[in-house]
Amino acid sequence: MVVNSEPTRISAQSPSHPARPLIVGPSSPSPPYPIRLRGKVCKGFGRGGKDLGCPTANLPDDNAGVQAMRGKVDTGVFYGFARVIPPTQLDPDDSDLNSSSNLDPNSSLSPLSPTSYLVYPMVMSLGLNPFYKNSDLTAEIHILHQFDNDFYNFDIKVLVLGYIRPELDYVSREALVQDIDIDKIVARRCLEREAYTAFSRDRFFWE
Ligand code: ADP
Ligand code: MG
Repeated sequence: MVVNSEPTRISAQSPSHPARPLIVGPSSPSPPYPIRLRGKVCKGFGRGGKDLGCPTANLPDDNAGVQAMRGKVDTGVFYGFARVIPPTQLDPDDSDLNSSSNLDPNSSLSPLSPTSYLVYPMVMSLGLNPFYKNSDLTAEIHILHQFDNDFYNFDIKVLVLGYIRPELDYVSREALVQDIDIDKIVARRCLEREAYTAFSRDRFFWE
């Protein structure tokens, strides 16, 4: 598969997929999957996301793992697992030492609840970045978990395991929201297959 430069066009009058299959892809991940990504969550374009009931954690534009997907996969929507990485904890024995040795930028992040740091299913949108004349890929990850807080500037790890569908150029908000809802169901169903579930325990998330 190769990255498309033009997203597929659909119209509001013709729903994109009247009956989309809920399980897609082979029974076990096959190359180029699994694809492992890691990066710090940064501010996105502010388009879509929470407004659509689907916040997406953006990886930095220059993320090496994301850019390495160019030429290996099409743009579009993917499924897999993701984990928010807890900020580095200070060693309690060092806590009363001068803080000059504790310059970890993560140490100032407010911690999330403990369940926030588990591995969850995710859907990821991989698209071409309009700010760079579409020469860069941009990755937006929606984690299928209700978080108690935002996690900007936290590191996340993402394991991409399969492809759901190409990017569509929506002319109606309803059609977009409907397809996002179906993407979430498809991702869950695809990941319930044992060969995929096994990757939720991948040591990548914990090393
Ligand atoms: P932005 O344009 O800055 O990416 P979004 O509306 O897409 O704004 O919101 C993304 C932010 O929402 C993420 O960076 C993260 O901090 C937060 N967030 C809360 N819940 C989730 C979730 N389930 N999946 C992804 N991000 C989430
Ligand atoms: Mg976003």
